Amino acid sequence: MPPTNKIVTIGSHSALQILKGAKDEGFGTIVVCVKGTEEPYRSFKVADTIISINSYNDFEKIQDQLVKEKAILIPHASFIAYMGFERVEHLKIPYFGNKKILRYEADRNLQRVWLKNSGINVPHIFKDYRDIDRSAIIKFHGAKGGLGYFIAKNPHDFKKKMKGYQKDQRYVIQEYIVGVPVYAHYFYSPLTDELEILSFDKRYESNVDSLGRISARDQLALANVDPSYVIIGNMPLVVRESLLPKLFEIGRNVVEESKKFASPGLFGPFSLEMIIRPDMEIVVFEISARIVAGTNPYVFGSPYSWLRYNEPMSTGRRIAREIKRALQTKQTHKILY
Ligand code: AMP
Ligand code: AMP
Repeated sequence: MPPTNKIVTIGSHSALQILKGAKDEGFGTIVVCVKGTEEPYRSFKVADTIISINSYNDFEKIQDQLVKEKAILIPHASFIAYMGFERVEHLKIPYFGNKKILRYEADRNLQRVWLKNSGINVPHIFKDYRDIDRSAIIKFHGAKGGLGYFIAKNPHDFKKKMKGYQKDQRYVIQEYIVGVPVYAHYFYSPLTDELEILSFDKRYESNVDSLGRISARDQLALANVDPSYVIIGNMPLVVRESLLPKLFEIGRNVVEESKKFASPGLFGPFSLEMIIRPDMEIVVFEISARIVAGTNPYVFGSPYSWLRYNEPMSTGRRIAREIKRALQTKQTHKILY
C-alpha cells in the first residue's frame, strides 16, 4: 500500500531529487516555491502540487494547509538559509531530522568542538592575526557561498588585505589546508543503526576553479583578483578505496558524538566537507547535518549506492525509504520532530 502521507520541501537546492525520490517510494509530493521559480518543478514533473508564496517569510501562512495534507517536511540548505534555524525550530509540521542539531550546525565554534571531540582533525585557528605563520584563509561569518574569503600568508599580508573590509565584520582565520577538497555524503539510520556512505562530490566554484586556467604570469597581472568560492555546480567523484575504512570511521564517530549533546543524535543524510592532504591525512572543515546538493549528480544512484542497493538509490529516495519504513513499523517518533 502506498503511504498516505505526502513529502514537501522548498523549491531549490536538492528539491528535484528529494521529490523524485519520494515519488519513487510511492509518496505524493508538494513543492513550495517563491513566485517565479516554479518552472523546473513543473517541467521535470516531480511535484504533484506546487504552492507559490511571495517570499520565505510567508512559509508559516501555509503550514495549516500542509498539516492537513499530512505532509512531512524535508529540510535542505536553502530552506535553513532562507528561514533561519530559529524559525525552523518552531515549525509544527512534521520535520525529518533532529532539530536540536540545527544550533550546532549553525555555529562554527560548536561544530568545531563536535568534530574535535569526535577525534577528527580540523584546521588550526589563529586567534590573532599576528600569529599567522603559514597560509591562512579568512572566512567572514555569514559570507554566502564563500564570496569575500581571502587568503593571507603572513600578518602583514592580512593587514593589507583587511583594509578593504569593514572593521565590525566577524571572521575566522583558519589555516589554509593544501590538498584536495572532498565532500563525503553519509546516511545514518536510527531504525537499523546502520551508517551508509552514499556518494562523494567535488565542487565547481567560481572564480577559484578558473584561476588555474591562466598562466602564473597572467594571474599576477590580475593582481586584484582574490579567489572566491561561490558554488556553481557539483561533480561526481569516487575515492581511492583504501580511504574508505577511515571515512566510515569518522562518519560513525560524528554520529556517536552527537548522541552525547543532542539526543538522539544526528540521523538521516549528512556530509563531511574535508581536504585530503598528499599524505592522506583527512582534515574536516565543515559538517552539514542534512542533505547536501553534492548528492544531485546521483538522482539515479551512485556507484556506492548501487553496491549497497542494487537499484537506483539517490539520497532523496533513501530519505523517503526511511520515512516509509518508519511509517510501516510505527517508529515515526524516531525520525520526525
Ligand atoms: P540557493 O537556494 O541556490 O540560493 O542556495 C542556498 C544555499 O545552499 C547556498 O548559499 C549554498 O551554501 C547552498 N547550496 C546551494 N546549492 C548548492 C550546491 N549545488 N552545492 C553546494 N551547496 C549549495
Ligand atoms: P566553506 O564556506 O567553509 O564551505 O568553504 C568554501 C570553500 O573554501 C570550500 O569548498 C573549500 O574549497 C575552501 N576551503 C574552506 N576552508 C578551507 C581550508 N581550511 N583550507 C583550504 N580550503 C578551504
